[in-house]
Amino acid sequence: MTLPPTADIVVAGGGPAGATIAHQLAGFGYRVVLLEKRRFPRHQIGESLTPSIFPLLDFLGLRPQVEQAGFLRMAGHSVCWGSSRPRTAYYSPDRHRRGFQSVRADFDLILLNHARQAGVRVVEGQPVRAVRPDGEHGVSVRYGSGERIRAAFCVDATGHAGIYARENLRQRDSVFQTLALTGYWQNARNPPGVDFANTLLEAYADGMVWSVPLHTGERNVTLLIDWRHSRAIKRTGLQRFYIEEVRKAAYVSGLLADARLPHPPQVFDASLYTARQFVAGRTLLVGDAGLFIDPLSSEGVRKGMASAITGAVVINTVLQRPAMQPQASEMYEAGQRDTYHSHYQQSARYYAEEGRWPDRPFWRQRRPRLESEPGPAASQQPPAAFSPFDSQPVSHLAVMPDLRIRERPVIEGAYVELRPAVVTPRYPRGLRFLSGVNIPTLLRCVQTQRAVTDILEAYQRHPDGRQSVPAQVRQVLAQLYQEGLLRPTSPNESQSG
Ligand SMILES: Cc1cc2nc3c(=O)[nH]c(=O)nc-3n(C[C@H](O)[C@H](O)[C@H](O)COP(=O)(O)OP(=O)(O)OC[C@H]3O[C@@H](n4cnc5c(N)ncnc54)[C@H](O)[C@@H]3O)c2cc1C
Repeated sequence: MTLPPTADIVVAGGGPAGATIAHQLAGFGYRVVLLEKRRFPRHQIGESLTPSIFPLLDFLGLRPQVEQAGFLRMAGHSVCWGSSRPRTAYYSPDRHRRGFQSVRADFDLILLNHARQAGVRVVEGQPVRAVRPDGEHGVSVRYGSGERIRAAFCVDATGHAGIYARENLRQRDSVFQTLALTGYWQNARNPPGVDFANTLLEAYADGMVWSVPLHTGERNVTLLIDWRHSRAIKRTGLQRFYIEEVRKAAYVSGLLADARLPHPPQVFDASLYTARQFVAGRTLLVGDAGLFIDPLSSEGVRKGMASAITGAVVINTVLQRPAMQPQASEMYEAGQRDTYHSHYQQSARYYAEEGRWPDRPFWRQRRPRLESEPGPAASQQPPAAFSPFDSQPVSHLAVMPDLRIRERPVIEGAYVELRPAVVTPRYPRGLRFLSGVNIPTLLRCVQTQRAVTDILEAYQRHPDGRQSVPAQVRQVLAQLYQEGLLRPTSPNESQSG
């Protein structure tokens, strides 16, 4: 294998995040080389993909291929949490909205081949060894058995390995320090009826068991326990320890009564971590290289692909419009920090709901301090029975005085650009769109019109609102009112804000 000595961009790692960013950057016209340590298809844990993956698959044009891959489709998840009786939450009330229980070897290969088809030079079986700055505007990447390639940018998409992130950017969380022990069972049973492929989660005194069925006939049963068990695992032996613990989860182990485990379980580090910085010089972290969220969310793949789509725009902006580099990098940093923070809070709230074993180390440890939810101030809360503009009509509106419209970095096509956005305590980074409605434009219509019917008409006449659906704009006005960004006013009151 001979690689050219230079490329525009080197991507290290060919998982969902690496394949996605490489695909996007090749689409912007860059010469992209992707170096992947292993050979695909390769096994990867993390099979459950909730329906939130669809907008990304649509954006990449991959939905048909993924739908045709034969993966089982699940209608929701069933949990024994806070009680030994399973409860089920569906992705939609009619149970038609479904996610995928993917086989990641196949799913990840679809994404990597998609990158190849976009012109990415994919090289498998070549680990990246080190990434170093090369002058002010480039990087030198050492790979394989000591070869080097120079590029204007490098992406660390090496997942948990974090070839660059680990050097001094990674920050491990001290609370959620978790080991995952995964076994693939054969001949396991599934829950009955529409729930047959659901993601299952069962808490027990010393951890929890997460389980999904696959179309290959296997069932993934993953034990999530505290790190401090490492010594007990060594003492007892991995397989025995795993089987004894899984037996403690009565609901899931009931499905395994006639099942067998043909291969020993595998161990993964499932502890949470983030990064001190996500763009360091000419290297950008995407996916799990940058941050790892709780596997219970089943959002790791989506989160990684989303960071890759934004990351490609950030790199393009830095390379093409260097003056925007600080804003583009800060937008990416802020987005990644927000992602980690909101998932972290979500996990903490979820763990707090399991109160059966407050004194057991696993549960006692996982009780970090919860922050209160951001939300409209009590005085701005609409009355409980309020249905804006319908049952109790609000005919005239004004913007709240503390609301500001400021220039903020946002993604416009292939670039990060400064655009007006609404800045409030709830949206400190700026709110620009809700359900496709341009919020700064809509609020300017509120400032000039006041009457709800006139506001809707003015927005519809504005170039930003010509394609909008009136019912949708009305809905967004109602939401802004409920969030305390608007207040009722009389036809004669003068406007402020
Ligand atoms: C126990 C567990 C359960 C999970 N369950 C789910 C789930 O149900 N749903 C979900 O969405 N997510 C889940 N996740 C998370 C999910 O697996 C990851 O978020 C996702 O794989 C991240 O994608 P990525 O591309 O960032 O990294 P990866 O998928 O890890 O890909 C990184 C790639 O980099 C390669 N690589 C590593 N080192 C080098 C190197 N030096 N040079 C070149 N290449 C290298 C690796 O071989 C790999 O192919 C789970 C994770 C764990 C641990």
